[in-house]
Amino acid sequence: MTSESRPPESLDAFRSRLRDFLAAGGPGPRPRDPEERFRWTRAWQAALFDHGFAGPGWPRAYGGMDLPFSHQVVYQEELARARVPGPVGTGLGIAAPTIIKFGTDEQKRRWLAPMLRGDTVWAQGYSEPEAGSDLPSLRTTARREGDEYVVNGQKVWTSHAGRADVFFTLVRTGTRASRQRGITYLVVDAHAPGVEVRPLRDMTGGHVFAEVFFDEVRVPVADRVGAENEGWPLVRTSLGHERAAGAMNQAATYRRVLTELERLLRETGALDDEVVRDRIADFEIRVRIMGYNGRRTISDILRHGEPGPSSSVARLHITTFEQDLHEFAVDTLGPAGLLGTGSADAIQRGRWLHGFLRTRASTIGAGTAEIQLNTLAEQVLGLPRDPAMPSA
Ligand SMILES: Cc1cc2nc3c(=O)[nH]c(=O)nc-3n(C[C@H](O)[C@H](O)[C@H](O)COP(=O)(O)OP(=O)(O)OC[C@H]3O[C@@H](n4cnc5c(N)ncnc54)[C@H](O)[C@@H]3O)c2cc1C
Repeated sequence: MTSESRPPESLDAFRSRLRDFLAAGGPGPRPRDPEERFRWTRAWQAALFDHGFAGPGWPRAYGGMDLPFSHQVVYQEELARARVPGPVGTGLGIAAPTIIKFGTDEQKRRWLAPMLRGDTVWAQGYSEPEAGSDLPSLRTTARREGDEYVVNGQKVWTSHAGRADVFFTLVRTGTRASRQRGITYLVVDAHAPGVEVRPLRDMTGGHVFAEVFFDEVRVPVADRVGAENEGWPLVRTSLGHERAAGAMNQAATYRRVLTELERLLRETGALDDEVVRDRIADFEIRVRIMGYNGRRTISDILRHGEPGPSSSVARLHITTFEQDLHEFAVDTLGPAGLLGTGSADAIQRGRWLHGFLRTRASTIGAGTAEIQLNTLAEQVLGLPRDPAMPSA
């Protein structure tokens, strides 16, 4: 994903062109009804694409903007400032970079632009009941029959599965004992016969993720990315991008959120307490570090095509920050801070409590905090490897 050699538009000109578009053509108020909200989010993704404002780091050939580093930073800052919704599904941040690197030209033409426009929603089917941190132990199988694979097995915690048109999955094509040497990357039509999605309710009351069952699901061999049994390098690329995904956008978003919390605490008088001010100063330092981590992630992707192990630094920093921030907000706001979205007396429609509940899962998804620490220890600090995890 390198930038083109022609001179880029000046940063100021780019910022004001983007800001004008966001002011004039923004998505409008966020609907409360989940169905309406889904359609609204999708329509916004299409509007971004149609106006040439989608895929800041993507090649132009697939509908992206191919922006240089500084413009990508501005892009994320402006989108966070405008409070517009992120993309639907997990395809853009995770599957797309993997397909751009390992897919055939035909696959890129067929899949990338519809994914970027939000016409197809992609969801990640990696984890299984017995395979989370230890993905090489996954058991969903695919057997080859002519020009098709026949897939059987179960995935779990598949975010956005209920909305998905496509699952990007890992399946076992080697023997059961083959671990990471017998894994293949398959793109499965979510509407194919034999696919069943069962929603899972999380502690916020939402149904973002689900269990997905495959019963004799037929998948064309043309929908395999990379070679058979050679899916593991794709997994590594894709996990790196998953950890990096949105690092800069989240940094810009939390910059805004911290300012909003500070304003709220000033209004309630809580900021008169020096202990509260001390905590806010701590969060201020951490949110600035988050911004630098986000910049480093974009810079690594532009220079090496991959975010690399430093994406674990960004991920760990963001996830612990968002947990601490929401816990602090709920503690400081007192009893009213504990009222949920449904209560008329809830502070700011219960956003801080919702954030507190939602972010409990942050240090689990995209690899648990312990796994990120292992990655940092081994790949950044050069400490001895975890003998339980595969090396290639
Ligand atoms: C909000 C959310 C969204 C998710 N979305 C998706 C999705 O879209 N698609 C998808 O495929 N998956 C998704 N997941 C699943 C997620 O990737 C797994 O939950 C995660 O990888 C952990 O796996 P596990 O739940 O099986 O826990 P386990 O791997 O069983 O881990 C249990 C505990 O043991 C620790 N542990 C395990 N191995 C080690 C080790 N080697 N060293 C140190 N500690 C270790 C873990 O840190 C954890 O504390 C999501 C999870 C969450 C919470």
